[in-house]
Amino acid sequence: MTPHATMTADMPTVAPPTGLATRMLSLGTESAFEVLARARELEKQGKSVIHLEIGEPDFSTPSHIIESAVNALRAGETHYGPSAGLPETKEAIARYVRETRGVDVDAEWVVVTPGAKPIMFFAIFALIDPGDEVIYPNPGFPIYESVIRFVGGRPIPIQAREENDFRVDVEELRSKVTDKTKLIIINSPHNPTGAMLTRHDLEVVAQIALDRGIYVLADEIYSELVYDGKFESILHANPDILRNVILLDGMSKTFAMTGWRLGWGVMPPHLAVAVARLQTNSNSCTASFSQKVIGPALFGSRTEVNAMCDEFRHRRDLIVDGLNAIPGITCRRPAGAFYVFPNVSSLGIASKEVERRLLDEAGVAALAGTSFGAHGEGYLRLSYANSRENLIEALKRIESWVDKQ
Ligand code: PLP
Repeated sequence: MTPHATMTADMPTVAPPTGLATRMLSLGTESAFEVLARARELEKQGKSVIHLEIGEPDFSTPSHIIESAVNALRAGETHYGPSAGLPETKEAIARYVRETRGVDVDAEWVVVTPGAKPIMFFAIFALIDPGDEVIYPNPGFPIYESVIRFVGGRPIPIQAREENDFRVDVEELRSKVTDKTKLIIINSPHNPTGAMLTRHDLEVVAQIALDRGIYVLADEIYSELVYDGKFESILHANPDILRNVILLDGMSKTFAMTGWRLGWGVMPPHLAVAVARLQTNSNSCTASFSQKVIGPALFGSRTEVNAMCDEFRHRRDLIVDGLNAIPGITCRRPAGAFYVFPNVSSLGIASKEVERRLLDEAGVAALAGTSFGAHGEGYLRLSYANSRENLIEALKRIESWVDKQ
């Protein structure tokens, strides 16, 4: 079907050649999905590919969570619910945030969304006017920059440097704040590097935001996947920041539930009302039966989740040690999430080209560091959400490919 096939008589007959609105020109994407599609194509042709490009746990959702969903379906939780989320689900999330972040929030602060990603989209949509500046990590999750540009905001990147263990330099961040800064985005543990901000980093960011009246979008989706040290939220570092914070979190990573699409934001009630209205205007609400599992999951057995986390720790060490044993590659040991960000700059090949050739010539699907912003040049992102056996095979393939360069 052509883009115009559904036009009715009273719609304009002259449209731009593509039919797309100009705003679409500024919308970016997440290249993980493109690399995955290319890898699947190669597999169809009979090639063996090891998938290190995907940002999702390879484990199954814990069985008791699946049971809760089945029970909810049988109990008739198959209808629309309130846009901001079911009251009992919002209450469970508020309790989880009170207990894990030590701040006093209630259900009015919570919006439940299909996955956590819409919280980025909705919060930026609700807060950023054209010309407003948003500070965000680079390399960083690509959707931040994409949505900032989409709404006409000015993206102000802060480089997450290897020599600083890929933590953003908070003094550099301070130097980039202007009267137009409306929002600071932080992400700890961090995608793509696995870096974790220190309490001091978070205290400085909180103080800057408080002093200058700036909102902070704290993306804490990997908060329960931490292998060294203890997770620190910006809300631990300075609870006074609560009224400036949009806390983004969800079920996808901790509970191996990426395909369920369950996430949430916790934010001041006036902003929660605006975000819920954006939800009314887009997807209406999050699926009712799936929301019903959030409470039982957050407060039920953690046996399977803990086992998954232990396994990720082993894999992290396996892949970091394996990469460091390959001449020409160096790799920091990240504290959390399930990614490593090896430095491949000594190969003298652009990251995007390394990505392409590793897939085509070695059968390893990885992502170029530049998929996460310009400052990712010289790096790759590898996800270790794959079996130890596959990681060992991937390391062998990478080593033999590097050897030939
Ligand atoms: N934030 C970060 C840093 C992520 O890496 C991801 C997913 O990859 C998300 C948010 C979105 O998670 P969800 O799948 O719940 O939308």
